[in-house]
Amino acid sequence: MREIISLNCGECKRKNYTVTKNKKAHQEKLEVARFCRACRKHTPHKEGKV
Ligand SMILES: [Zn+2]
Repeated sequence: MREIISLNCGECKRKNYTVTKNKKAHQEKLEVARFCRACRKHTPHKEGKV
């Protein structure tokens, strides 16, 4: 059971990426450093609704 989620920039809140994740294997909130084109730097991205 994999769900599509978005990764939202922690600074500007833009939805920069979509990923799939297995909710049973990873119940905690995903947080990864990704490059944000709006901020033009790496920022922590958190999962959100697509
Ligand atoms: Zn940003």
